[in-house]
Amino acid sequence: MSLQNKPGRPKSVTARKTFKDYYCEPEFREKHMNYLKEKICCEQCGKNITRVNMNRHKQSKMCVTKQCGTNKTDEMNSLKEQCNLLQIELNKILKKL
Ligand SMILES: [Zn+2]
Repeated sequence: MSLQNKPGRPKSVTARKTFKDYYCEPEFREKHMNYLKEKICCEQCGKNITRVNMNRHKQSKMCVTKQCGTNKTDEMNSLKEQCNLLQIELNKILKKL
């Protein structure tokens, strides 16, 4: 006979609160809401975005275009320029033929 093995929930389960349990406490909820509303700097474009919107922001065009827009536009422009120069050279050669 063992008195230690009581029926019912094991101690570890009763001791552990779920997120829902915490969320029922107004104090925790307020802290959590403040945490979500807190503005943080986007590591990709440097904009200040609320934590709750950060994931959506990072996938949005607002962030992505700003992040790689400059590099890609520069790259595109230089490629276009090279294309134009090649086209001019090609025209010159074709005229000579
Ligand atoms: Zn961003």
